[in-house]
Amino acid sequence: MEEQERSLNFIEQIVEKDLAEGVNNGRIQTRFPPEPNGYLHIGHVKAVCLDFGIAERYNGVCNLRFDDTNPVKEDVEYVDSIERDIAWLGFKWGHIYYASDYFQQLYDLAIRFIKEGKAYVDEQTAEQIAEQKGTPTEAGVASPYRDRPVEENLRLFQAMQNGEIPEGKMVLRAKIDMANPNMHFRDPIMYRIITSHPHHRTGHTWNVYPMYDFAHGQSDYFEGVTHSICTLEFVVHRPLYDYFIDQFVPQGEYRPHQYEFNRLNITYTVMSKRKMLQLVKEGLVAGWDDPRMPTVCGLRRRGYTAKAIREFIDRIGYTKVEGMIDVGLLEHTIRENLKETAPRICAIFDPVKLVITNYEGEGETIIADNIDGHEELGTREMQFGKELWIERGDFLEEADNKFFRLSPGGREVRLKSSYIIQATGCEKDAEGNITTVYATYDPNSKSGTEGGNRKTKATINWVECRSALDAEARLYDRLFAVENPAAEEGDFRDMLNPESLVVKNIKVEGSLRSELHEPVMVNGVEQENHYQLLKQGYFVVDPDTTADKLVLNRTCSLKDNYLK
Ligand code: ATP
Ligand code: MG
Repeated sequence: MEEQERSLNFIEQIVEKDLAEGVNNGRIQTRFPPEPNGYLHIGHVKAVCLDFGIAERYNGVCNLRFDDTNPVKEDVEYVDSIERDIAWLGFKWGHIYYASDYFQQLYDLAIRFIKEGKAYVDEQTAEQIAEQKGTPTEAGVASPYRDRPVEENLRLFQAMQNGEIPEGKMVLRAKIDMANPNMHFRDPIMYRIITSHPHHRTGHTWNVYPMYDFAHGQSDYFEGVTHSICTLEFVVHRPLYDYFIDQFVPQGEYRPHQYEFNRLNITYTVMSKRKMLQLVKEGLVAGWDDPRMPTVCGLRRRGYTAKAIREFIDRIGYTKVEGMIDVGLLEHTIRENLKETAPRICAIFDPVKLVITNYEGEGETIIADNIDGHEELGTREMQFGKELWIERGDFLEEADNKFFRLSPGGREVRLKSSYIIQATGCEKDAEGNITTVYATYDPNSKSGTEGGNRKTKATINWVECRSALDAEARLYDRLFAVENPAAEEGDFRDMLNPESLVVKNIKVEGSLRSELHEPVMVNGVEQENHYQLLKQGYFVVDPDTTADKLVLNRTCSLKDNYLK
């Protein structure tokens, strides 16, 4: 989809209005704020495309900010993967920031809140605090610690930070309003104690860590973010976001604003990092980059291109209504993309040997288009010879006149891009299984020569035996058997599709060999080798491939069941 073709989304409209009114002197700054507690998934990509896209389109800056306020779950492994995935998607960040860069500033701000009587140390348990919250129509109950003197709050908060108070024994709460209809205003927790885990960047420097609500808006402010874009579940947090900023930023001065859009949900997929981590930890998938995972690295390994993923995000658009996107649209997008670019090759999935009895030569090389009828997209060399692999299903010993492929005494059949043959018979083992098919060929029927124009009712695939490569084909399908795993009752792990991976040993055209040793590089990033295996689907070379083992992943089938 051309950028110019689509109309502005509602966030772009807000940005254009701000630019027209000279808000922030025309400065546009966004951020993408992942928590480094898992790998990026396609839902995150929706946010990435908007955060980076807005900055690109309006000459602004988008920074990467790791929201690393919970050392229990966070790790550098995730930080590294997030950077790699954003770069692979083709986006450039201005700076890399970490919420942990602001721990001192946030701590100082908390002290200021305490001194101004806007925060207090609560010694109740998490359960007690939850019980006192009340309901949206019923006021909460004030904590017995709510009115303790400022000096005591200061001393206790310091003790929390000094490691003198065990985890879970105290929290710092904002003193706002226990009767506010917005539950987030009922004295939200600002700080909690975490001593059990070192932080991946600050080690054991801190024993208290800010909560999301106290960290996010302030971090936006410290960095100079103008448009802080997030998903709809944060609508109810926005008043608190503004409240905290109001406490230390005078009215009329620069301040960040939060805007919300709808999350991406896709059928037959779970989009929760927690559930994905569970799948990985319990070995239900092969890792975060398992080609069935909706992670960026999983999609990449599956054979999705960055271009197709971004086109998909462009197609679904941004609104303020939650919904569910048909996974067929994602599959349709990659199929359309690969249709234009993936070289075609032959592969035989259920091989039986074909011997051409009247072929006398040593073998020959056939030049075939990478994509039929598109010579400009290059050609490849196919080896041809006396013995070929063909699909078992392309031969029938006894066939009626509706069967157009090989059968003794039957019709002429074209071998893809080469000669016309006619079956003469077959050989079977003791159990009656066909082991060899026999045929004769017409030397004057080669494709590309005058005789090559002769029409046949059927064309079949083949791979020359001596040059064929053995390969492992991993046929991937949707990971879940149900349309909306999150909405179903029961454990999501019981909803996995038992046929999401089928492995087959296949024979592939030898022309693939040379390409396996010469990865295509673009801007220093190795590109995946994509192919259409004729009649079978689109495939990509898997990184498990070694000198003696070729592994091909099926990206998608040839059949489109989306726009039908
Ligand atoms: P959690 O906070 O539960 O760990 P998360 O999916 O919200 O999970 P974050 O790392 O906080 O993960 O997300 C980073 C950004 O990506 C946020 O701005 C968030 O709104 C956005 N995001 C996350 N999931 C989706 C989704 N499914 N669709 C669109 N945006 C998403
Ligand atoms: Mg989040």
